[in-house]
Amino acid sequence: MGLRARITRPGIAARLLAWYSDHHRDLPWRRTSDPYRVWISEVMLQQTRAQAVIPYYERFVAQFPTLESLAGAREEQALAAWSGLGYYSRARNLLKAARLAVAAGGFPSDYDAIRGLPGVGDYTAAAVSSIAFGLPCAAVDGNALRVVSRVKNDASDIGSMATRRRFAETVTGWLDQRRPGDFNQALMELGATICLPRQPLCDECPIRDGCLAATAGSAAGLPVKLRKEDPLHIRATLFVVRRRGRVLLIREDSGARRMAGFWRLPTTEDLPGATPRERLGEFRHSITRHRYLFEVYASSGGLPACPAPTSAAAGACAWFSPAELPTIPLATTARKALNLAGIPRSS
Ligand code: SF4
Repeated sequence: MGLRARITRPGIAARLLAWYSDHHRDLPWRRTSDPYRVWISEVMLQQTRAQAVIPYYERFVAQFPTLESLAGAREEQALAAWSGLGYYSRARNLLKAARLAVAAGGFPSDYDAIRGLPGVGDYTAAAVSSIAFGLPCAAVDGNALRVVSRVKNDASDIGSMATRRRFAETVTGWLDQRRPGDFNQALMELGATICLPRQPLCDECPIRDGCLAATAGSAAGLPVKLRKEDPLHIRATLFVVRRRGRVLLIREDSGARRMAGFWRLPTTEDLPGATPRERLGEFRHSITRHRYLFEVYASSGGLPACPAPTSAAAGACAWFSPAELPTIPLATTARKALNLAGIPRSS
């Protein structure tokens, strides 16, 4: 006889909900059903772990406590509040979406209108719809896909749209229609804390009885994701140039594909005449398939003529004091390099 799930679909939902009510982490966005705050948290969580999101979320909603306050912000303020979280198109889209929602009379309350906001995909729309409005939408993120692949012991490639659609239908079948928000969060929580990518903690899992991969001993090898492209390894140099207690930064102009409006450290292309004085260290940084190894040098010479520090100097360079750094959108690479140079942002 082949392997069969030993608990029923309603059983999976009931067990997940009971486990979630006893074991869920106390995260700040779980203390509210305000759609604005749920939306901010879900966008932040799109590419970042929950523990890392907490301080950013708290700072962001303290600075922009309502949809209207965010809609009234300048882009540079929103980017500065987002600094360090990466994937900055998320912050730009938040701002655009807030302005559209305010113009339309407030945060939308149905799935299609939420899905229509800039930067909101199927997952985020379903998460906000279910958590903030109790709509019966299954939110399927990477955690949920992993749990489904294991419960079903299904080795299909989760990079394929057909597989994702099929797995999403499974989650829809499991969904508790009366408590969709809790159910979605329970499934994500299981993936984030128990059904871990490399070493699932099956002995602590509330749905182990129904999990075919746990029975077959194949859980650690699931889900399967076929590799499409090899990573590109790139070495680059960043210069930390100081003058009278200030540090030189370059602003990405508005035509830059990534990071437009952000301040970064100069490279050898920016300062071809620079003389590396002291090697401060190195760090690694990944953007999609690009794997950078940045070497950081204190430098002098080859300096461009820079205006007085002003974040309005588009496409320019400028000198900033450590106290000014928290007020500008600062590239993550600059933050890492300035830490190596002993120049942390001073708040
Ligand atoms: S039993 Fe193990 S593999 Fe199956 S869902 Fe639970 S943690 Fe994941």
